[in-house]
Amino acid sequence: MKFLLVLIVVMVGVWIWRSNRAAERSDDAERDAARPRRKAPGAIAMGRCDHCGMHCPSDDLIVGEHGTYCSTEHRNRAEA
Ligand SMILES: [Zn+2]
Repeated sequence: MKFLLVLIVVMVGVWIWRSNRAAERSDDAERDAARPRRKAPGAIAMGRCDHCGMHCPSDDLIVGEHGTYCSTEHRNRAEA
């Protein structure tokens, strides 16, 4: 009989713990959904080289006739 009582107490404890976790998780999801998506401070816009696929800061990309490239060498190779 004592064992049954302990089992019930443990099950109630687990149930309370799980329902608290579920509530916390839905709070987090609501907070994430409400928060506007904006760029992190200091984030740099990146672009992809159409020749090698490397990502570079957009300011450093070389713009060619058929795309953007990480270097003049890759622009020349891609557009030769
Ligand atoms: Zn490249």
